[in-house]
Amino acid sequence: AKDKGRGTYHFYTESLTRSANERLALETRLRRALEQDEFVLHYQPLVALTDGRIFGVEALVRWQIPGEGLLYPNHFIPLAEETGLIVPLGEWVLRTACARMKTWLDAGLPLEMLAVNLSPRQFRQGDLYERIRAVLAETRLPSRYLELEITETALMEDGPENETKLAALKALGVRIAIDDFGTGYSSLAYLKRFPIDKLKIDQSFVRDIPQDTSNMEIAAAIIAMARNLKLEVLAEGVEAEAQLAFLKRHGCDVAQGYLFGHPVAADAMQATLEAAMGK
Ligand code: C2E
Ligand code: CA
Ligand code: CA
Ligand code: CA
Repeated sequence: AKDKGRGTYHFYTESLTRSANERLALETRLRRALEQDEFVLHYQPLVALTDGRIFGVEALVRWQIPGEGLLYPNHFIPLAEETGLIVPLGEWVLRTACARMKTWLDAGLPLEMLAVNLSPRQFRQGDLYERIRAVLAETRLPSRYLELEITETALMEDGPENETKLAALKALGVRIAIDDFGTGYSSLAYLKRFPIDKLKIDQSFVRDIPQDTSNMEIAAAIIAMARNLKLEVLAEGVEAEAQLAFLKRHGCDVAQGYLFGHPVAADAMQATLEAAMGK
């Protein structure tokens, strides 16, 4: 399935750069995919480094193109963002993930957190708070289980009203994580201003540990800073034991990456969680 996805992905990547016509075709296709329910969510484990336990999952969207296989988000999220289709798509993701999380909690699975990505355009919506609250009410997921992942860049756009926006979301009880931390913005002052719970160290800083010494210094500095600011810190893209050892040594709380588990369909995630519980 992976190779198939990759083939499709090349086709779409090229088409994105090839012509306006092809982009329009993809946009039309994307719109129809939303109507015809062609998107699926995969879930990747979030792991506590103290005991290796899966304490949460991140929902990641894929496009299941009939007869063609899975298309990964980097190849349709940018166009969805540009065209505004990300708003209904993002809402579908949120509702589907929250509903799934609720069934997992009801089944007694020991999950503490569901992480959902919010695109910059979604974050800019004036009625974001109402939308999030409505989905939580509809799915009956208690707000403390939901963590919204927002990139630094999105957070820094427009500035001041974002503070109010985040404060409202916090008051609702959801958690806020900064995604791809370290890749976006040059000033760190916002970390004290905004009510943030977690930093997710971008995988580009984790990738070449322990060969790349500057990456190691950056990762260690982010962990130290997060701890000083009393923020949780998660390392993304952990693939190797040596990376894990380094992160543990520097006091990183939690991690995510192929070393612990790839993103998988809901059924497979559920089986993993049940097995971990000894069910
Ligand atoms: P992200 O939010 O930074 O998500 C992590 C990405 O890293 C995922 O790629 C995941 O599969 C991948 N990953 C996890 N562990 C490893 C590892 O050990 N090594 C490597 N090399 N990669 C790893 P994916 O699923 O292809 O998603 C790519 C991006 O697409 C996401 O990056 C996120 O920015 C966006 N995305 C995915 N789902 C959604 C969504 O529902 N809404 C929005 N707005 N964006 C989404
Ligand atoms: Ca993310
Ligand atoms: Ca990320
Ligand atoms: Ca990323």
